[in-house]
Amino acid sequence: MDNEKLLDAFIELIRRTSSDLPVDVVTAIKEGLLTEKRDSIAHKTLQMILKNIKLAKEKSLPMCQDTGTPVFYVNYPHGVSQIDIKKKINQAIKESVHKLYLRPNIVDTLTGKNLGDKTGPGYPVINFEEWKKDYIRVILMLKGGGCENVGTQYALPDSRVNAGRDLEGVRRCILDAVHKAQGRGCSPGILGVCIGGDRVSSYEESKRQLLRSLDDRNKNPVLGKLEQSIMKDSNRLGIGPMGFGGMTTLLGVKIGSLCRIPPSYFVSVTYMCWAYRRRGFEYENGKTKKWLY
Ligand code: SF4
Repeated sequence: MDNEKLLDAFIELIRRTSSDLPVDVVTAIKEGLLTEKRDSIAHKTLQMILKNIKLAKEKSLPMCQDTGTPVFYVNYPHGVSQIDIKKKINQAIKESVHKLYLRPNIVDTLTGKNLGDKTGPGYPVINFEEWKKDYIRVILMLKGGGCENVGTQYALPDSRVNAGRDLEGVRRCILDAVHKAQGRGCSPGILGVCIGGDRVSSYEESKRQLLRSLDDRNKNPVLGKLEQSIMKDSNRLGIGPMGFGGMTTLLGVKIGSLCRIPPSYFVSVTYMCWAYRRRGFEYENGKTKKWLY
């Protein structure tokens, strides 16, 4: 493994993720714009968001003041050292702060003191998984704090939303989460949802669902149908971009499921804001062979 080239790939990954929104997300925002009335606040807000996206790309600058929690998903072949990759990621984060691709906004939770370079206990988040392919694949998500705050989890049955342990109950929970978020997660948002698992695996899987492209189809037709119905119902709630009213409350819904033990039935919702920053690369024989998204 050529470590210098891998470091360069990580820095470029961070630059692209922070400043250049994937095409599927930009397309969805543009489609949202077409559904809003001209001169409405919703229309103006989406126009402003699109202008912001364009400027960030042109200037290679972060598209939002919150450059988010860096969440890495790393698949690697047998024989590659996790320790080496972790070191490279930490180095790339520090250099990216220096180059202004990321803001140094990580603080010690107890003292509130800024740690200066966006690394520290728990930061960045790195998910490692060995796989059978002979190259490394890395996906980075920059997860905003405002939208992370409106993510939530339900344990069914839940009498607050009259949700039983069935798909109708799941639907009620997800719509409740969208309604409670209002504009606070910087809508239009994208939902990653997991049904089942334990508390931790359920939340993790809900976030992992956000790695799917907005235009993909769920392999499970039952979940695919649920995704479409949540999308339709949410966009009828009138919350709109940034909560100013309008038709564009969600840009996408992605739902997965994990097994569970009979006493538990979790529905976990991760809310992603319009700044749906995810990018990736594949790395083989000392060079980047493909950029993802
Ligand atoms: S929720 Fe997203 S768009 Fe809103 S401030 Fe945070 S990162 Fe930016």
